[in-house]
Amino acid sequence: MTEIVLASRNKKKIEEFQVLLTKAFEGKIKVLSLDDIGFYGDIVETGETFEENAITKASVPASLGYIGFADDSGLCVDALDGAPGVYSARFSGGSDEDNNDLLLEKLNGRDNRSAKYVCTMACVFPDHVGDFVVRGECHGIILTERHGNGGFGYDPLFYYEPFGKTFAEVELSKKNEVSHRALASQKFIEKLSQVLNDDK
Ligand code: IMP
Repeated sequence: MTEIVLASRNKKKIEEFQVLLTKAFEGKIKVLSLDDIGFYGDIVETGETFEENAITKASVPASLGYIGFADDSGLCVDALDGAPGVYSARFSGGSDEDNNDLLLEKLNGRDNRSAKYVCTMACVFPDHVGDFVVRGECHGIILTERHGNGGFGYDPLFYYEPFGKTFAEVELSKKNEVSHRALASQKFIEKLSQVLNDDK
């Protein structure tokens, strides 16, 4: 049994990855949390890229002798030069609602409303042999008003053309087939199985 530590305190995220990795590795991998390994400190995300932040987080368990992994995600809007990007969660300094209001305000009158969700995942080993980072992207359009009540964050404004709907208007299972997080997770599982089979 290989233990791998998710550098997050988000219970939903830990559960999600536990299910995902248990299924992919047929029970041969166990996902632990920071609490499980007795790390109760804060991890400050100071990076300017998703990659940097994911690596910073995943390096914490690795520095304590565990295989660490972490994700970092956000929304990048073309007309805003990639903003809010790594600042997606704290764009307005307020709630998701406030973030969406600020996004609408900044895009007011703009023709180009193309955007993408990005998710990076990093895996860091105690000896750094086999460290890797993967990235998943999902492209869409920022609408001029909210549609739907599902999802979270910027989903009510994020229109996904192949569905003809926003991510807040579709079932979570549908979003999970195409999302940035789903794509990054797939790549992560592929990479991790390669690295572990290579005598990790
Ligand atoms: P985190 O790194 O997964 O905690 O996500 C950072 C922020 O990016 C979230 O707080 C949201 O504002 C935004 N975000 C990331 N993924 C999504 C998504 O799937 N839907 C909506 N917003 C997202």
